[in-house]
Amino acid sequence: MAERFERAEAVIVGAGFAGLYMAHRLHQAGLTVRGFEAGGDVGGTWYWNRYPGARCDVESMEYSYQFDDALQQEWEWSERYAGQPEILRYANHVADRFDLKRHFAFNTRVTAATFDEDANLWRIETDAGTRVAAHFCIMATGCLSSTNTPHFKGLESFRGDVHHTGKWPHEGVDFSDQRVGIIGTGSSAIQAIPIIAAQARHLTVFQRTPNYSIPARNGPLSPAVQSSVKAEYDAFRARNSKMPGALGADMPMRPGGALEDDAEARQRQYESGWQRGGFSFLIGYNDLLVSRESNETAAQFVRERIAEVVENPHTAALLSPSNVIGCKRPCLDTGYYETFNRPNVTLVDVREAPIEEITPEGVVAGGETHAVDCLVLATGFDAMTGTLNRIDIRGRGGEALKDKWSAGPVTYLGLAVAGFPNLFMISGPGSPSVLTNMLVSIQQHVDWIAACIAHLRGHGLAAIEATEQAQEEWVAHVNAIAGETLYPTCNSWYLGANVPGKPRVFMPYVGYPLYVERCDAVAAQGYEGFALSN
Ligand code: NAP
Repeated sequence: MAERFERAEAVIVGAGFAGLYMAHRLHQAGLTVRGFEAGGDVGGTWYWNRYPGARCDVESMEYSYQFDDALQQEWEWSERYAGQPEILRYANHVADRFDLKRHFAFNTRVTAATFDEDANLWRIETDAGTRVAAHFCIMATGCLSSTNTPHFKGLESFRGDVHHTGKWPHEGVDFSDQRVGIIGTGSSAIQAIPIIAAQARHLTVFQRTPNYSIPARNGPLSPAVQSSVKAEYDAFRARNSKMPGALGADMPMRPGGALEDDAEARQRQYESGWQRGGFSFLIGYNDLLVSRESNETAAQFVRERIAEVVENPHTAALLSPSNVIGCKRPCLDTGYYETFNRPNVTLVDVREAPIEEITPEGVVAGGETHAVDCLVLATGFDAMTGTLNRIDIRGRGGEALKDKWSAGPVTYLGLAVAGFPNLFMISGPGSPSVLTNMLVSIQQHVDWIAACIAHLRGHGLAAIEATEQAQEEWVAHVNAIAGETLYPTCNSWYLGANVPGKPRVFMPYVGYPLYVERCDAVAAQGYEGFALSN
C-alpha cells in the first residue's frame, strides 16, 4: 500500500492566508511541500465569500502580512477597510510574488489524513484520488470555511435560486426586479442587506436575533495615512501585537473601565468611537467584556442610535439587541440600520414565530407566507471545528479526531492534539484566532510551526506530540479565561451554539499577547508539554 503514495516532507491543507504563508516558510526551509485547496484558486475565505458588500472589518493597514518589508511597503490599499475583490487581489499578489501557487493542487479537497505509526508518516487522500505520504501535516483550513445551512423543511422545493453568502457564485447575482429574502442578521447579512436592498424590488429580512452593528465609516484610504503607517510599519505592528485582539493600538482609548467616567464623559467617549467608526467603539474602555454594568452602558448607547436612525418604532425595537454587546462577534456596517427606512424593505421577526417551512413560493413563518423569488442564506458557518471534522483525520491507534472532539475540541495551544503526532493546526480551537486580527494570528502560528519543524530537523527528531496532560491543562486554562469574561453569556458561534447539536464549548483563546508569551516560552523550554521522539 505504501508504494501507491507519492512522497513529500509536508502536506498543507488550504491555500488561504495561512496555507500560503506556511508553504512559503517550509519551502524556504528546504522542505518539499504538497498543498491541496478545495477552491479553484488561492484566497480561502476571500475566495468563497463574494456576496455583495463583503469587506474586512479589520482596517487595511493592519490586515496584511508583515513577514516581508518590501511586500508591506509596495502594496497600496485603496480603502480604509478593503473589500473582498481587493483582498483577493492581494492574496494573488503574494502568491505570485513568492511563487506559491506551484505548491498547491486546486479544486482538490482532502478527504482523509491517517497517521501511519509504523512509518511515522501522515497518509493524505483527496477527492481527486491523489495520495501523498508526508512527515508533517498542516491544517490551514480556516476558522469559517464550512458553511452552515440550517435544516429548513421544504428548502429543496423552493422554485427560485438559493445562495449562501459563504459560497457565493463567482459571476455575481443580479437582484434587479427580484423579491429577495435573506435569512440571518450576522456580519455577512449586515454587509449585504444595504446593497441588495438598493438593487432588489423588495427585500425581506428574516431575523432571529438582532445584532449590534457599529458604523464602519469606510472610505478611501488617504495616501497620507498610508505613508505615515509605512514610515514606521514595524513599530505600528509591534504596538498592535500588544493588544488583546492584536489590532487597534492607535485607536482612542480611555485608561480604565466605563464606570470610572461620569455619564457625560462616557457619552463623549462612545460618541467619539461611534463617529470614528469600527472596533474603536468597543475597545474604548478596558472592561466592556468583563463587566456587565459597563457593557450595558455601551449597549444602551447603540440601542439609542438605532432608535434615532430607524423611523418605525416597532422595527427599531425589533432591531435592538438585549444581550451583551461584543458577546457575539460585533458587526460593522455601511448604512445597515438606515436600510430599514426604505419602503422596499421588510423585517420579519423569526424568534417569536420561527421559520416553519420553505415552499416553492417563499418562506412561511408565523403562519404567513412571505413570497420571494430568490433566497439568500446568511446563516453562517460550522466554525472552527467544522472543516477539520469533515476530514477523516485519524491519529494513533486509528483514533478519529472527530471522536476525540465529540464533547468539544481539545488541543494544546490550539496548535496540536495529543495522539496526533506531527499534525499542526493554524489558528485552531484553543488559540486566539477569531478574536484577533486573523492575519497576525496566522503569521504567529506559521512562524511557530516553522521554527518547531526546524528544531525537529536540526535535532534529528522524528516526531512531536502534545501530551494529554498539557492538553488537559490548556483546555482548562482556555475555559477559565473565557469564564472571566462575558463571552459565554450568549448563543454565539464562538460557543458552537449556532449549529444544532454542536457541543457548547468556548473555542477561541482570549488575549493575544499572553498567548504569544506562552507559545514562545513553550518553545524556549524545549517544547514543554510536548513529547519529542526520534
Ligand atoms: P453568523 O454571524 O453566524 O450569522 C448567522 C445568522 O443566521 C444569525 O443571524 C443567525 O441567527 C441566523 N440563523 C442561523 N440559523 C437560523 C435559523 N435556523 N433561522 C433563522 N436564522 C438563523 O454568520 P455570518 O454573518 O456569516 O458571520 C460569521 C462570521 O464571519 C462573523 O462573525 C465574522 O467573524 C466573519 N465575517 C466577517 C466579516 C467582516 O470581516 N466584516 C464579514 C462577514 C463575516 P442567530 O443569531 O439567532 O443564531
